[in-house]
Amino acid sequence: MARCRHCGKESRLISQILGACLDCIRGDLAAVLPYIERARSQARNQFALPVHPPKSDPGLWCRICVNECRLAPGDRSYCGLRYNEEGRLRGARVDKANVSWYYDSLPTNCVADWVCAGGTGAGYSQFAYRSGTEFGYKNLAVFYQACSFDCLFCQNWHYRELALQESKVSAARLADAVDEYTSCICYFGGDPTPQLPHSIRAARLALRQNKGRALRICWETNGSMHLALLAQAAEIALDSGGCIKFDLKAWDEGLHLALCGVSNKRTKENLQLLAEYTEKRRSPPFLVASTLLVPGYIDKQEVSQIAEFISSLDPDIPYSLLAFYPHFMMRDLPTTSTTPRNAWQQQRHKG
Ligand code: SF4
Ligand code: SF4
Ligand SMILES: [Zn+2]
Repeated sequence: MARCRHCGKESRLISQILGACLDCIRGDLAAVLPYIERARSQARNQFALPVHPPKSDPGLWCRICVNECRLAPGDRSYCGLRYNEEGRLRGARVDKANVSWYYDSLPTNCVADWVCAGGTGAGYSQFAYRSGTEFGYKNLAVFYQACSFDCLFCQNWHYRELALQESKVSAARLADAVDEYTSCICYFGGDPTPQLPHSIRAARLALRQNKGRALRICWETNGSMHLALLAQAAEIALDSGGCIKFDLKAWDEGLHLALCGVSNKRTKENLQLLAEYTEKRRSPPFLVASTLLVPGYIDKQEVSQIAEFISSLDPDIPYSLLAFYPHFMMRDLPTTSTTPRNAWQQQRHKG
């Protein structure tokens, strides 16, 4: 049970680290901002990551994501991957990534497997090896060890330690991990955004090396990248039968800042761009959206507004709601409640 430091409300749906309830964040952001700032500092300082994107002017500029870091000598980027060493930008680049991978038999627990070629056979025989679930094949799951956001509920928070290590892996080495039973690549993390150029290069190499057979390329992302990079990834996913799995974490910008440390404006703009592609390939769907139901914060209002936005772009975009499990700085929140489902079931039995 935690207490909102602004309105005094007590609830197990208030995160102790945030110290602010949903109503106060949405209704009076300026008043609760000091609590949010304190939470953000706590989350970042333990990993020696900057609390805000560095904006030194003059400074070396990275424009890969919404944070647009400008680094003075000695500065480290928001994602932790890049730093200014005596006037030279060091760290991850197009041919050196902080990344690891493993194979996952299909069907996987992929957020899109209920509609994609690997999970359902949609797009057979151009994009899938089977007309149903692709048993016998596997997904190359590629974990990029950094992120452009800093979500307090992060499930894979350990990547923060790895983001600061030396970047080593070439795109060619990653592309070589695709073997004859690999039918899709899934880029995730952390988030692939801060190392998107590396993932694009690896995808192109892998497709060239596996010409003439199905190899789907998919990205699972918070959608905060530069538009020009997103357009390149979108073309690759579209042509290969893969998809972009797009996570919308909150609708309200203040709430998004509180939970994820960064604005959601770019994410919304980028979803608009991707929606222009959906007509080009209906099956399997090119774009799949998702939202994590963080108890106490991502409520009906948030989900309704996100859903309305998605459907205004294209009502056929599949949208998944994901269950929350307490992690990282939000371990005091409960799991997503199953009450509405139970209530619905009871109603159904009565009917
Ligand atoms: S990586 Fe792409 S094709 Fe493979 S299971 Fe996930 S969504 Fe489906
Ligand atoms: S990718 Fe990293 S270094 Fe580049 S702008 Fe984003 S947070 Fe900054
Ligand atoms: Zn409150």
